[in-house]
Amino acid sequence: MARVAIVTGGTRGIGAAISVKLKENGFTVAANYAGNDDKARAFTEETGIPAYKWDVGDFEAAQEGCTKVAAELGPIEVLVNNAGITRDGTISRMTHQDWDDVIRINLGGCFNMAKACFPGMRERKWGRIVNIGSINGQAGQYGQVNYAAAKSGIHGFTKALAQEGAKFGVTVNAIAPGYIDTDMVAAVPENVLEKIVARIPVGRLGQAEEIARGVAYLCGEDAGFVTGSTMSINGGQHMY
Ligand code: NDP
Repeated sequence: MARVAIVTGGTRGIGAAISVKLKENGFTVAANYAGNDDKARAFTEETGIPAYKWDVGDFEAAQEGCTKVAAELGPIEVLVNNAGITRDGTISRMTHQDWDDVIRINLGGCFNMAKACFPGMRERKWGRIVNIGSINGQAGQYGQVNYAAAKSGIHGFTKALAQEGAKFGVTVNAIAPGYIDTDMVAAVPENVLEKIVARIPVGRLGQAEEIARGVAYLCGEDAGFVTGSTMSINGGQHMY
């Protein structure tokens, strides 16, 4: 039987590409989203992948959402924590709410979803968790103390949970994308984006499908010895 994969923020941008790629690779996919019903409906019509709405930053909603997915599709064997938001601003302009929202959704969402999915994976002795971090969690970024802290936290979260899963066939890895051509990056002012692209050695933004292919590898049977790692997919913008 096909393994069930859940992709948070899986109806547009990088998440949509991940959902589609995992479906192509034979998984039964559930795509979660937050509130953009029109995009979610269009995505489901186009791909046949069901969409499930809840806020990953809400602990109870995440537990209930995963219970519903498992009841309808089967036990969740793959979790891709992709949902994320930005609320940029220098620290003097950033509000406490901007800080809280980004930490709650980007980092808290990973915890909430793993709480719902990890115990079953551990029990069944097979699981794949892939967390989408960011180049800005690795290197920092002006005007993003909240986002860089959340994404950096995801990288630590990944290494810690990988240690808990290792003996039970559950791998936990992260991908740190560089700048990828999605709505999130479209929100960056053009003059700032030009400067960013000038610093990318391959000379262009990445495509969502390029992240999806990395996720698909980490979710596959062949990646059982890969755990606690961070795969950077960034056109050479940040190397270490
Ligand atoms: P988009 O803004 O294009 O899409 C974000 C997705 O996340 C949407 O499906 C959105 O749902 C969903 N989402 C947002 N908040 C929540 C929430 N509280 N609960 C559930 N779902 C939520 O983002 P990208 O595709 O660009 O980014 C995807 C991930 O990759 C993010 O974690 C981002 O931080 C990371 N990343 C992106 C980079 C880039 O250059 N684009 C670079 C590095 C990392 P809805 O449609 O309902 O709003």
